[in-house]
Amino acid sequence: MSTELKSYPETSPTKALKIAELRNVSKTFHVAKGRELKVLDQIDLAVREGELFALLGQSGSGKSTLLRCLTGLTVPSSGQVLCYDKPLMGVNPYASIVFQTFALYPWLTVEQNVEVGLIAKRDLTRAQKTEAVEKAIDLIGLNNYHSAYPREISGGMRQRVGIARALVSEPKILCLDEAFSALDVLTAEGLRGEVVSLWRGASNTLSSIFMVTHNIEEAVEMATRICILFPHPGRLGLILENNLPYPRNSNHPEFQRLMKVIHETITQQALPDFPPEPPPAPGKPISRARARMESIPTVGVNQILGLISILHDSPDLDSIYDVSDEIGKDFGETIAIVKAAEILEFVNTPKDEVQLTDLGKRFFESDRQTRKIIFAEQVQKLRLFHIILSYLEVQEEVSAETVMHDIAAALPYENPEKILKTMVAWGRYAGLMDFNANTDMVVIPEEDEEEEEA
Ligand code: ADP
Ligand code: MG
Repeated sequence: MSTELKSYPETSPTKALKIAELRNVSKTFHVAKGRELKVLDQIDLAVREGELFALLGQSGSGKSTLLRCLTGLTVPSSGQVLCYDKPLMGVNPYASIVFQTFALYPWLTVEQNVEVGLIAKRDLTRAQKTEAVEKAIDLIGLNNYHSAYPREISGGMRQRVGIARALVSEPKILCLDEAFSALDVLTAEGLRGEVVSLWRGASNTLSSIFMVTHNIEEAVEMATRICILFPHPGRLGLILENNLPYPRNSNHPEFQRLMKVIHETITQQALPDFPPEPPPAPGKPISRARARMESIPTVGVNQILGLISILHDSPDLDSIYDVSDEIGKDFGETIAIVKAAEILEFVNTPKDEVQLTDLGKRFFESDRQTRKIIFAEQVQKLRLFHIILSYLEVQEEVSAETVMHDIAAALPYENPEKILKTMVAWGRYAGLMDFNANTDMVVIPEEDEEEEEA
């Protein structure tokens, strides 16, 4: 791999040409039963020549959809997609995409899989194709693997094939959709470094990279500009410049500062510290859960129990970052679990701390039957659950379809199927409802002793 670096025009990054751009782009999907799901809301974003742009967001926030709009694979519901200031027709001709799952053809060799990237270049001769494939294979360090089949090589090597296939058409902008997230930590680390070198190196046509990821450290390690996509519906949040020299050292104070700012921004968005509420009526506790129709994070009861158990057993664990390390989940997932526990009033989250409430403590120390009662009380405080509970007050069962219709009306930017699944899981733990998969009905649970753990 060449160590010679590209030199970019001495213009400020904001003057560099815009290879791909979204102007006021929104995207709504038509999902089952005539429902609409708004995934992107008024997105303005431009990827310029010379930059490595990272779009950071949790799972389901709309990152892939945004990438597909930006590259022309998906047509937005409204707004404009541009390429060098001109409206984009079809797919951006300067872009190539690498997906998380390698999407290789198992019956083709490495070489043949790479050549698939030239499918649109019908005017190339055989010799030119061979040369282009050879160059791409060389660039990403796949030499000696030409005639191997995907099943014969490691995940890291397979993703290299994915990257070589993207590079073979000599793109100006490489779009990476969670391209490192299916790899083990060390392999991902190595490949990230190589992709950065590739982008900086002068031995190829690549000018820019647009990458989407849910991994905060990956973004800070690689990108010159980082943007956070807030979910439901996807809106752009904070944009950060990152001018640290490469290769980047995660102990550098600026690296640490960027990590902190991003963590805080995501935490504040997901778990806001609430503005002072009017004083509660005498004798009534403040319950923000009661205040409005609030969604619930789609996490399982076991994950909530796990969090409570960790907080209970390690009282000095208080920051959300330590909790994330302790439970071994990535930050986005940790935030979701903490938020679920907070909605149920088992934890408080002042700033970036996570504290078990008295209720959380009592819940943890109770037996199974008492836990069920406490959980049921908390769930019943959530207005969202009244959608189901109000049906079950007057009838034995209600169809999943009816409930999802109501959920979609109440929470138009969320996925009603996932929400219903979570509600049923919580409701079942609380003994408030059950689900009959044969009839697709949410039902009143039978009075039984089957709960007792023998
Ligand atoms: P991310 O890449 O951040 O995980 P996606 O862009 O894949 O998010 O999806 C965002 C939301 O849009 C999800 O709720 C997903 O279920 C929904 N979605 C994505 N593509 C489609 C589609 N073709 N039809 C319907 N819903 C979709
Ligand atoms: Mg995605």
